[in-house]
Amino acid sequence: RVDLRTVVSEVVERLRPVAEGKGLFLNLEQPAGPLDVYCDPADLDRLAVNLVGNAVKYTASGGVRVSLAMAGDRVRLEVVDTGIGIPREALPSLFNEFYRASNAKAAGESGTGLGLAIVKLLVGRYGGEIGVASEEGKGTTMTVTLPPSPGSRNPA
Ligand code: ATP
Ligand code: MG
Repeated sequence: RVDLRTVVSEVVERLRPVAEGKGLFLNLEQPAGPLDVYCDPADLDRLAVNLVGNAVKYTASGGVRVSLAMAGDRVRLEVVDTGIGIPREALPSLFNEFYRASNAKAAGESGTGLGLAIVKLLVGRYGGEIGVASEEGKGTTMTVTLPPSPGSRNPA
């Protein structure tokens, strides 16, 4: 049983120097009570570092807001950025291995295109779901929902 707040706050602090080096804000909103999931913490770390890392990488001004909350009977991680966004035609391929959108390449940011494929695998492993909302030139929101751990102490 892992409190999502512990893993995600560690990831945010690890990425803070990168965000601040680019002059970006990096905010974390989380509830006072636990958000327990039943996961390998290393998997959760990898999931969060890929999503928050992408948000920081693909944002040149403004910043990134990470929020944790209960959403119905699920635990939700949301990463919202004010970055380059994702072209509509790229959305169907986004989670494919090695896929990178044209505007990401044009922005001169390097990457292998594996991060989101790994995120999708991990989300599936734990019976979760991932959703993307994005507008090119405006920003991106990535939302992951996970089942709470059995016998969790999570608030309703
Ligand atoms: P890496 O394997 O190093 O993570 P990557 O970041 O290019 O490389 P993914 O994390 O798999 O690869 O993301 C795939 C593509 O999705 C990116 O290349 C980019 O086009 C797009 N993308 C993902 N997250 C964002 C985001 N927050 N804003 C804009 N584009 C994004
Ligand atoms: Mg990535």
